[in-house]
Amino acid sequence: MPEENRVYNGIVREGKEMELTPLEPWIRAKIGTSATGADLRREIDRHQLAKLRKTVDYVRAHSPFYRELLGGVRGSEIRELADIAHLPFTTAGDIQENDLRFLCVSRDEISRVVTLNTSGTTADAKRIHFTEDDLELTTDLFHHGMKALVRPGQRVMILMPGDRHGTIGDLMVKALRRMDVRGIPHGIVLDSGRTIAGIVENEADCLIGIPVQVLGLVRHRDARAIPKGMIKSVLLSADYVPTAIVSEIQSAWGCAVFNHYGMTEMGLGAAVDCRALCGYHIREADLLFEIIDPHTGKPVPDGETGEVVFTTLTRRGMPLVRYRTGDLSRFVTAPCPCGTVLKRLEWVKGRLAGGIRLCGDSVLTVADLDEALFPLPGLLNFRVEISGNGTTDAMVVTVYCGDDPVPELCSLAAKSLEAIPAIRAAVDSRRFSIAPIRASSENWISTGSIKRKIIDSREER
Ligand SMILES: [Zn+2]
Repeated sequence: MPEENRVYNGIVREGKEMELTPLEPWIRAKIGTSATGADLRREIDRHQLAKLRKTVDYVRAHSPFYRELLGGVRGSEIRELADIAHLPFTTAGDIQENDLRFLCVSRDEISRVVTLNTSGTTADAKRIHFTEDDLELTTDLFHHGMKALVRPGQRVMILMPGDRHGTIGDLMVKALRRMDVRGIPHGIVLDSGRTIAGIVENEADCLIGIPVQVLGLVRHRDARAIPKGMIKSVLLSADYVPTAIVSEIQSAWGCAVFNHYGMTEMGLGAAVDCRALCGYHIREADLLFEIIDPHTGKPVPDGETGEVVFTTLTRRGMPLVRYRTGDLSRFVTAPCPCGTVLKRLEWVKGRLAGGIRLCGDSVLTVADLDEALFPLPGLLNFRVEISGNGTTDAMVVTVYCGDDPVPELCSLAAKSLEAIPAIRAAVDSRRFSIAPIRASSENWISTGSIKRKIIDSREER
């Protein structure tokens, strides 16, 4: 097979003339150049440098937080993009402490505030503020990014929150309308059977959803009601995307499965796969991405894995400078099969804080569990909790299987878990055990829109 048809992560797609990412012509127009190839790359770098300088001066002038953090740094002192490494980082904790000190406009100009509350306690809630212009930047990204997935006249079912102004669903419907595509806001999936009925009734060509929720549709008994070939593309967002889920959706529906990477702090959307489906391209006119060594804080060479850090280049309400995401990824150095000069970011598979150190000193990650458990037939989701007293750890696992339990699911799950090297090493240390696995058909959907994680309820060690 020719190299350009080979896609990493074990997913191989048939080779056809590969279409250029629609983000490239969009970014070219946004920065106002007709350059192509290496010249375009230089123009993008130049644009980013100019915007970075402006952003530094803008936030120092308008945000109390950055006035203090950046001290006497002036935009003009930034000579080249690499100089960004001299600027201090912004962390989630800074926003939690006082989001209002980040604002660069008056509160009247803010048209949407998103409260992020990942652990369910108000202590670590973060609020991110957007002006109408800021939201428009995201709508514009959705408009152009979706050109890789749909054509005029098609219908997209949006299985994401979308009932209010400025939500992903709302912005997506607006964006799709600009390309003569009908966006159907649905909200997150609460009842797979009813969602499938809606997909069939609307003859959806494309779905946008959360990975486990789309897997729940594929594995639902009513899924056979969806005519073969009807769904042509799926965009997965809002959580890590396990390779096993991508393969299952591809083989069930014979469609292309795209990954999207974004977090609210980035303006909801940031990067999306091109038709090569092998890593996302970033909206580089608006966001500057870096990969850093999470321990030293220094940039790592392109190609090496580290923490994703980004700076907003065009945001007005609440710009962020060198925001540490806690997500792990790397820039792929090989050229993308689509031929773009845009950077390519490998699919984010986990978080810095996502690994759990087990007795025996091995580290277990959500990605390990994803790739071991999601291939199991009938499994819709899982919950893993590590408990213990510091001397011995126990892993308590629940597998969710909806209304159609596969009898041997628990024993298959146990086998798959025992095959994970980190778990095997822990078991070999004789200070770790897997409790009998429980299957549940309860409301597995409730874990829907928050990033999945391993629950660590061990006593302090
Ligand atoms: Zn590409």
